[in-house]
Amino acid sequence: MSQNIIARSDWRFRVDKALETIEQLEPGLYSAILSQSTIQAGQLSNINAEAFASQEDINGKKIQWILLDSSILNHWSRNRLAGTIFHEALHHKFWEKYRSLFQDEQSLKKEHEYIYNQELQFLKRLNALEEQIYLVQLMKEQGIKVYK
Ligand SMILES: [Zn+2]
Repeated sequence: MSQNIIARSDWRFRVDKALETIEQLEPGLYSAILSQSTIQAGQLSNINAEAFASQEDINGKKIQWILLDSSILNHWSRNRLAGTIFHEALHHKFWEKYRSLFQDEQSLKKEHEYIYNQELQFLKRLNALEEQIYLVQLMKEQGIKVYK
């Protein structure tokens, strides 16, 4: 499917399945991921992250990365993986809006509040109850407001 997945084949298969879920619910965002992002699996435990989004400018060309920790590719459900890739892809979508000038604590918090709530809606549309409970718990732990 996507040419921009850097991972061993079993993980690649799981990422492809998660991307299919995103394609069904959010075809526009799915197209953006496919055309603009490189998804890479690796060891993120040393920075205490399960996934993150990053952008680099290489010779004037904008490169968007979605990095996924190998442990989540081993253990997470398809829906939770889809929700996470959806979350990271939204960071790229709103990168300029929230991070163009400077990235202060306040704008980062706002960005995350919005994106986490979008991810929660995404999981609701999938009827992924277990994943919703997990995410709400995570949001509460991080002091992120859950929209009604
Ligand atoms: Zn995030």
